[in-house]
Amino acid sequence: MWCGNPATTVDHMIPSSKGGSDLPQNLLASCSECNSRRGNRSAFVYFKEKWHSAPSLIKLSYRIMVAYGSAPTSKIKN
Ligand SMILES: [Zn+2]
Repeated sequence: MWCGNPATTVDHMIPSSKGGSDLPQNLLASCSECNSRRGNRSAFVYFKEKWHSAPSLIKLSYRIMVAYGSAPTSKIKN
């Protein structure tokens, strides 16, 4: 979803440590490279450095919007 490589892992857009849930709207298929590169940063932070190589930018930004829209708002900055 991030870069066009085959997705081999399921990634939390908002990390569990920052209040992200295990619900489908917080999960995103990603390749293992993106998953480990992003580490514990939120999807929004990674998105800012990766958006130019995303194969389906609209879909990706929509997914991020949904994840953030459904998350508890207190902990998701950064
Ligand atoms: Zn990737």
